[in-house]
Amino acid sequence: MRFVIVGGGPAGVEAAATASRLGGEVTLIERSVIGGAANLWDCIPSKAMIAAGAMVTSLRRGRALGLPEMTSGLDLPALRARVDAISTGLAASTTRQLESQGVRIVHGTARLAGTHEVAIDADGREEIVGADAILLATGSTPRIPDWAEIDGERILITRQAYPPPAIPEHLIVVGSGVTGVEFVHMFRSLGSKVTLIVSRQQVLPNKDPEVAAALETDFLSSGVELAKGARATGASVTGTGVAVTCEDGRTIHGSHLLLAIGSVPNSGDLGLKNAGVKTESSGQIPVNHHCQTNLSHIYAAGDLSSRLQLASIASAQGRKIAEHVMGLHTSVHRHLDYDKAASAIFTEPEIADVGLAEAEAFAAGRKIRITKVPFALNAKAMIEGDPRGFVKLISDPATGAVLGGSIVGAHAAELISVLALAITAHLCVDDLAESLFVHPALAEVIAAAAE
Ligand SMILES: Cc1cc2nc3c(=O)[nH]c(=O)nc-3n(C[C@H](O)[C@H](O)[C@H](O)COP(=O)(O)OP(=O)(O)OC[C@H]3O[C@@H](n4cnc5c(N)ncnc54)[C@H](O)[C@@H]3O)c2cc1C
Repeated sequence: MRFVIVGGGPAGVEAAATASRLGGEVTLIERSVIGGAANLWDCIPSKAMIAAGAMVTSLRRGRALGLPEMTSGLDLPALRARVDAISTGLAASTTRQLESQGVRIVHGTARLAGTHEVAIDADGREEIVGADAILLATGSTPRIPDWAEIDGERILITRQAYPPPAIPEHLIVVGSGVTGVEFVHMFRSLGSKVTLIVSRQQVLPNKDPEVAAALETDFLSSGVELAKGARATGASVTGTGVAVTCEDGRTIHGSHLLLAIGSVPNSGDLGLKNAGVKTESSGQIPVNHHCQTNLSHIYAAGDLSSRLQLASIASAQGRKIAEHVMGLHTSVHRHLDYDKAASAIFTEPEIADVGLAEAEAFAAGRKIRITKVPFALNAKAMIEGDPRGFVKLISDPATGAVLGGSIVGAHAAELISVLALAITAHLCVDDLAESLFVHPALAEVIAAAAE
């Protein structure tokens, strides 16, 4: 089976590794770095920066744990070198692993040349590769509105912030979704004053209001200013910084502006018309439950096709696609169940959720049992000096089946895996309550919520 994959992000890499393990003849084409935007620009550098900010915050909190006052200055070149080293290290180890599995990696820009041909432009040389199956996994690029001109110094997109040339004195962030709030947290913890422009009345408009409220409380207590109900419509560089104008006439002044308003799929130069692959008006490629496009041997995955734009989803799709291409697991029972996907927001406190949300259950008129236990009652949270947040567990009142949950608090991104597993394994609250967890541990709050 000749399987050609365009794009070496989480979707492409996982598909390549799985298909070659299953005996496929795999060619992976990447125009930039193996690991994709996820490793180079998104998940990894943002979390490396957040980890640095968390260390600064921990030092500041030392006094509360009985330590002498400790502070940290920022060494921007060292921070940049660390962020780069993590991305480079991951790219190198992934490349080594794929090569050792026999994947042919081609550095170049690819497009469809026909239904079974991919054209690769590698340093001006063109190569045509024949394929029995093709995966398009070219990801997405940050959306830039027509009212802002990115200069990389005062007006930035996320990719220019790892770190920017100087830590902003007063950063304005436009975009109050997951990416926006992570950057608010990142720069606040690194010492910037931050104003977040929130177009509606709630940060994280798609999340549980109680969860969003917990984050807003924390932002406000750490000095973040929230400009609610303000839709940005213009941005200009002034003598001393930037000015952002809003639809309602407000002008917000700061030293720098960061845009975090979503992304656009990289589908423009893919030669989709050459093969007859359909796209939506947004540029995304519609796919079925096997991630097949309108042509059954051409698949699309990750940000290019998915509405759940997560590296974890991209990888899972890549694995499933490879299995399908290689003739495995075609039964309906092995499709990805996106409703069971856990996701996290790396703010402080962290936020994570999985499965059914309270609002969703009410909208569907579904009876649920909700239990909520705060971390303030937990010994480990007290020991670590951070008792903020709670575990909210949603279960079926008749059967006890775990249906969903949200966690706000330290290490929520790790703890949510317990609930994700419970949902996938069809466990009941009693299974959680009777599990013999470690003491003292934050996970005990999950067991308490299950009682
Ligand atoms: C700031 C930020 C932080 C994020 N943090 C997280 C997180 O913590 N956890 C999480 O799960 N998700 C996170 N995401 C989302 C995640 O980064 C994406 O969902 C993920 O990268 C999608 O993977 P992908 O395989 O579709 O594409 P990508 O990772 O975008 O990779 C696509 C690759 O295709 C290559 N390519 C494009 N066109 C061509 C072509 N014509 N020829 C050859 N190669 C091509 C590109 O160079 C790129 O390397 C974050 C996103 C952002 C913006």
